[in-house]
Amino acid sequence: MKNRIIVGAQWGDEGKGKVVDLYSSQTDYIVRYQGGNNAGHTLVVGGKKTVLHLIPSGVLHPNKVCLIGNGVVLDPQVFFKEIESLQASGVFQGASPESRIHISERTHLILPYHRLLDQLREEKASQSASKIGTTGRGIGPAYEDKIARRGIQAIDLLFPNLLRKKLERALEEKNILFQHHFGKAPMQVEPLFQECLEMGKRLRPFIQDVRHILVQALEQKKKILFEGAQGTLLDIDHGSYPYVTSSSTVAGGALIGTGLGPSFPVDVIGIAKAYTTRVGAGPFPTEIEETDPQIAARIRQIGAEFGSTTGRARRVGWLDLVALRYAVEVNGLTGIALMKSDVMNDLPNVHVCTGYRVNGKTTHQMPLSLEELENAEPIYEVLPGWKGYDTQSVRKIEDLPRELLHYMKFIEGYLGVPIVLMSIGPGREETLEVNPKQM
Ligand code: GDP
Repeated sequence: MKNRIIVGAQWGDEGKGKVVDLYSSQTDYIVRYQGGNNAGHTLVVGGKKTVLHLIPSGVLHPNKVCLIGNGVVLDPQVFFKEIESLQASGVFQGASPESRIHISERTHLILPYHRLLDQLREEKASQSASKIGTTGRGIGPAYEDKIARRGIQAIDLLFPNLLRKKLERALEEKNILFQHHFGKAPMQVEPLFQECLEMGKRLRPFIQDVRHILVQALEQKKKILFEGAQGTLLDIDHGSYPYVTSSSTVAGGALIGTGLGPSFPVDVIGIAKAYTTRVGAGPFPTEIEETDPQIAARIRQIGAEFGSTTGRARRVGWLDLVALRYAVEVNGLTGIALMKSDVMNDLPNVHVCTGYRVNGKTTHQMPLSLEELENAEPIYEVLPGWKGYDTQSVRKIEDLPRELLHYMKFIEGYLGVPIVLMSIGPGREETLEVNPKQM
């Protein structure tokens, strides 16, 4: 078994949580390297429901160490809430949370002014068409401050004099915005400073040199799972900008977001649904809301394609192999985990996009300009469906219906990458690990 980087290969919500949970049992360290508390996994342990947005879900596997890398933005309030909820569920079994969870010294913090700014902006944008659809949790503003070199890192909480100066600097511009752009009261430094000192006291035992922990883990041949959030097409550099998230969601982000170099052995697994969904605005060439609203509604209903926190309906479309091959290239994928094919069980046939028509020309490349992507018309290949089969009860790859095996082969042939895992239902047991010889 190698180290593994898990990335969303589409626009997020691909089912990464399930794959991460499965692979966590085969690993020693689980590390998050980007994003913030906008990931969302609902886990049920011992009949108790735990919702984790920030701490890797691997924490539920005893003896696994969970790390939060420098590429993440961390909201201390959310972090403490999750720790409390895990303690209440008895997850730590007598061990201290800080022996199982470490936060990089360099992780940037989401502070109250980031959340406020995010919410005020979203409120204002909701009156115009320019809404990106953020989760309003301060993640974007925290990344902005990081790049603008006025962010507060976890380690800063432990140095009060410097912290105060940094907070003053951070609030200087924010308060101009709060007062004059949004017509709100300014935020005072002193109460914020006191709040940060309290956070520092609680966070201190968790703050570690995460990069060094990972280097040692590699030296000792321990296994690391890099848990990506969101998806490739939401990447700040390689996604459909500006309809993207604020971090590097692609596999390269796993290196930048932890401080490791690219020379250790690792498999890169792209998680993809057997169809495609997208939340919020932005181009989506294979969307079928207008062309096939009934199929879209059916997939949405069976696949429960509604936002886990907002309840917002996800946009639905056919599998887009042009976009998926782009994800193969950008991430250097070595394998695909194909999720949720069971959702398409009652369709007589399935469409797969193998090219686009852009400005009258056929292309198999992902157009990079937003305008071209918005105008890209999908070219479909229609394949027979596996209607009438109850694939969820299948436990061996070779017992899957012939049509679904054909669908898988078609995808592999186009992408040039093997499907290493087939998920045929939400349950843990509804997962088939694929031995390449079986296909
Ligand atoms: P993530 O953010 O990438 O982890 O994805 P979400 O949590 O938004 O979506 C995954 C949802 O799909 C969860 O509710 C899973 O239980 C469910 N799920 C995962 N794999 C499958 C599958 O193969 N079939 C079905 N029907 N549901 C699945």
